[in-house]
Amino acid sequence: MRTLLLTPGPLTTTDEVRAAMNRDWGSRDEEFVTMSERVRARLASLYGYERSHVAVPVQGSGTFGVEAALQTTVPRDAHLLVAINGAYGRRIVTIAERYGRRVSKIDVGDEAALDPAAIAHALANDPSITDVAVVYVETTCGVLNPLAEIASVVHRAGKRLFVDAMSGFGSLPLAGLQFTTLVASSNKGLESAPGLAFALIDRAHLERCERNATSLALDLFAQWRGFERDGQWRFTPPVQIVAALDKALDLLEREGGQAARQKRYETNCATLIAGLQQLGYASLLDPAIQAPIIVTVRAPTEAWYEFNLFYDTLGIEGVRIYPGKTTAAASFRVGCIGAVDARDMQRAVDAIGRTTNRLRQSHAATA
Ligand SMILES: *Cc1c(COP(=O)(O)O)cnc(C)c1O
Repeated sequence: MRTLLLTPGPLTTTDEVRAAMNRDWGSRDEEFVTMSERVRARLASLYGYERSHVAVPVQGSGTFGVEAALQTTVPRDAHLLVAINGAYGRRIVTIAERYGRRVSKIDVGDEAALDPAAIAHALANDPSITDVAVVYVETTCGVLNPLAEIASVVHRAGKRLFVDAMSGFGSLPLAGLQFTTLVASSNKGLESAPGLAFALIDRAHLERCERNATSLALDLFAQWRGFERDGQWRFTPPVQIVAALDKALDLLEREGGQAARQKRYETNCATLIAGLQQLGYASLLDPAIQAPIIVTVRAPTEAWYEFNLFYDTLGIEGVRIYPGKTTAAASFRVGCIGAVDARDMQRAVDAIGRTTNRLRQSHAATA
């Protein structure tokens, strides 16, 4: 029985992606250097940014990428406005403050989308703001933010934009946007193995970022210069992870690209929400702002329910879900991304139904 990882990551991968990792490469092998160059080029061109931006990968999970990109591309004397609707926006604040950046915030709560007009208003009210940071899909509850509108507001105001596009990259639209820095990782919508993050950075801006980072390993200016100099990673490259991502990009192309993947995720999401509704579960978000990435479900209020017991019992059926991350409501989360289709989502729904009945009955028997 295939395990379904219906979580915010790591996600279910294909046999092909896992098989692509089943050998060794030396970091200086011509074949590996070429592969790294190819992956960088493919990441930059996936949404057509190969002329304006460069792709700089870095070892680590998505947060390593956010931390590296932020300290490299948001200058030390910047005033950063973070528009927040969840834990990942709050994490950007934590990182920026850790590096001593001046930070202002707009927080709309975890169950609402960001408002481009409010961002425009904040920028008009405080000319000292130089940079704006937002999350594309806030994986905390699963909200889709209006990134195109936000990007044009920020561009019109003449400010730089930093985007955490982690859970939407590869599956949701991102072409034709004005941004300075956009961060994503290998293991979400790209459906590869975890261990690599990357940033698309405006080339002209990156040229000016030499002395921004305080970290050695998380300095994307130095990382970029390393690649430009000799095609090498500065420190031990995650060779198998690069190979897996190269294969995952093949599979994305074969599927029909971003639009086709978006369709699959939308079908997954609709199957999940409809199935859960039939079982009596309600999703938390207004459907108008629900991204087809992860669904937050209201937790049962009955006495039989306890997340860890629910998780473990569901796990027997090979289905992994995630605890709720929002503090706004008792909830659990079910992802709809990764190498899964509508049949897998139906299998998850059926397993949730059986688990619910099993726990409810055994609670009733002992009550
Ligand atoms: C997954 C995710 C991250 C990164 O999380 P890691 O656990 O470090 O991989 C950052 N932002 C968003 C919106 C995410 O979904």
